[in-house]
Amino acid sequence: MELNVKYMTRNDCFTAGRKINPKGIMVHSTATPGVMAADWFSRWNKSYKAGETNRQVAVHAFVDDKGVWQYLPWNHRGWHAGGAANNTHIGFEICEPGGFSYGKGSTMVGYNVSKNEAYFRKAWQNAVELCVMLCRKYDLTEEDIICHSEGANKRIASSHADVMHWFPKHGESMNSFRAAVRAALNKENSHAAGAPGIQVGDVVAIKDSALRYYPGGAAIPEWVKTGSHHKVTQIVSSGKAVVKGGRQCVLLGKKVDKKTGKESAGIMSWIETGSLIVLKSSSPTKKPPDGKALYRVQVGAFSNKKNAEVLLGKIKKAGFDGFIKKG
Ligand SMILES: [Zn+2]
Repeated sequence: MELNVKYMTRNDCFTAGRKINPKGIMVHSTATPGVMAADWFSRWNKSYKAGETNRQVAVHAFVDDKGVWQYLPWNHRGWHAGGAANNTHIGFEICEPGGFSYGKGSTMVGYNVSKNEAYFRKAWQNAVELCVMLCRKYDLTEEDIICHSEGANKRIASSHADVMHWFPKHGESMNSFRAAVRAALNKENSHAAGAPGIQVGDVVAIKDSALRYYPGGAAIPEWVKTGSHHKVTQIVSSGKAVVKGGRQCVLLGKKVDKKTGKESAGIMSWIETGSLIVLKSSSPTKKPPDGKALYRVQVGAFSNKKNAEVLLGKIKKAGFDGFIKKG
């Protein structure tokens, strides 16, 4: 996660200078298609009092697929919740991608889920990493993280739909977000995570018992389970294991015909490793680790060194390695 810090010193919220003792984190999304984290500085670094803007609003940070832009000190009282949560919660906005518009209320019109999936995953990951950092800094847990609409339900924020008007389009929810933060915190705590059992290139079947790709994710259609086998094409993203809904996931990027083994375009879905059965492992036959016994083949014993050299010559010509040992 790339963190850029640039305080909005012109914003009246910044100049008000009130401090908080952060007790939680509130996740928002911008409801402004296509305006990315760095772009918000010029939009919001303005004074309402001086008549430069018609809004009194400030959040601690904006997150997009590239990273995080921090615009207020974390322990500064922000103006993001429209309620009591401003006194307790750090607020950040996840930027929504472009290419759609808003209809009535919080309806996203023309939002292309598959086109935006890659953006969403990167922004999601940055948001998870930001929460992990803040949890560590302020001794919080994933249970202290809520979104704006959850804050409204708790009557500590104004009535807004974010982020639950958006996350479910990508098979996620605030529960799966919290689970991802928990998983990342656990992983940091026990850095002996170990290698995943499933490798790129493995041919797998999906367990009959698997209902969703991962907790909080989309339901697995029957044809995906029974129609073919699948090949794993990706297990990490930006060098890290991919965790969704708190579970380690791999990407099924190829379909494999059950009878012929012929490969075709895959379903391109991430799925938790626990739902898979490895049918054919891609990993090469392992050579024995150091310190294991070596078995030697002896092909001749001669009293005359010359004869030994003649045989060694024949062996090497046949493509084998050999040596002469006296003893
Ligand atoms: Zn909000």
